[in-house]
This record gives sequence, structure tokens and C-alpha cells, in this order.
Amino acid sequence: MARYTGPVCRLCRREGDKLYLKGDRCYSDKCAINRRKYAPGQHGMSRKKLSEYGLQLREKQKARRHYGVLEKQFRKYFEMASNKKGVTGENLLAILESRLDNAVYKLGFTMSRAEARQLIRHGHFEINGRRVTISSILLKVGDVIKLSEKSAALDKFKNNVEANANRTKPTWLEYNGDAMEAKVVSTPAREDVEIPLEEHLIVELYSK
Ligand code: SF4
Repeated sequence: MARYTGPVCRLCRREGDKLYLKGDRCYSDKCAINRRKYAPGQHGMSRKKLSEYGLQLREKQKARRHYGVLEKQFRKYFEMASNKKGVTGENLLAILESRLDNAVYKLGFTMSRAEARQLIRHGHFEINGRRVTISSILLKVGDVIKLSEKSAALDKFKNNVEANANRTKPTWLEYNGDAMEAKVVSTPAREDVEIPLEEHLIVELYSK
């Protein structure tokens, strides 16, 4: 599947906001948004005023890039969100948050969502006792995500867990650090989204 493989800081600069795609670096002074808060490219310094459509498009791209989701899948999530009861924008964010790669990252097992995707693909995680390799799995209340016992002994995971020990764990996941597992106890809430997003703009874009 075609996935963006270029410099990720460029994506943040394009959106004019931190998208937290590079782990520790995103929280440091080295973050490109702190140093060059203008769009990449020759005309990056002269940001034009965006049209209504432009604003909606940028917001959608921001959400898509933050969660590392391709356009086709993002639209599928939107359709799922609009078919659910409740507010479509909030449903959409809850779906994005409940992806396995997002949960693995937020639990501190990896430094970024991209790393989470890679390590899930390599089979380091289990859901309800079964090994999984698909990072887009949507978690449900009652599911238990676990770093496999063999993987938990690897330096890579030990270092990641130690480096992320102070990261606040999402309230929809009940984390058990001794067992290296977490149980899904509720649906993700609006407050669990890490970046400022105006989801109503995405809903307006897709509702045209
Ligand atoms: Fe790069 Fe992270 Fe800063 Fe984005 S938030 S510009 S990915 S360091």
C-alpha cells in the first residue's frame, strides 16, 4: 500500500501545527515547527488566506496525517462515523483513536505511531491472547492489548517503556505495567485527541 515515506516534519510545517510524528523530538527544541513555522517550499513564507474549502481540506489532511491513515481508509472511517448514533465528528475521532497503532503508541510501547505500525506488523502484540499483525484493527470495549512476553524482554521495548514512563495514558485504556497489557474500558473521548482539530470542518468537507 502506498504510504508517505518523505520527511515527516514537512507534513507538520504544511499544516502549520505539530502532528507528533517523530517521538521525543516533537517535544524538544529541535521540533521543526518551533524553528520554522512556515510552510515548506519556495513560497512557504507567504501563506495565503485559505478559502472555506481550503480550511476544510487542511483540517482533514491534518487528522489523516496525524493518525497515518490513507485517504480511502479515512473516508471509510467517515462513513462508519456518520452511520453511528451521535455527533459524526466526535464519532470519527473516536474511531481514529481506537486504532491499534494509536493505542500502542499512547501506551508508551513505541515512540511514534509509525513505529507502532512497524512493530505491530512484526507480530510483537496480541489482542485477547492472539497475535496480531494489522495496525488498523479497531479496538472494542473489553479487548486486551498485550506486548508479547518474548517481545517485552527485548531492549527496544524496555527502553521505549522507560522513556515514555511519564506519558499520560489514555483514560479509555486500563494499563497494567507489570503485565505489559491494557484493557479497553470505554470508547475514546474527545479529550483523548492530542492535537487541536476542528472536526466539524472535516464533516462539512465530506458532506458536500
Ligand atoms: Fe517534526 Fe514532530 Fe515537530 Fe512535527 S511535531 S515538526 S514531526 S518534530
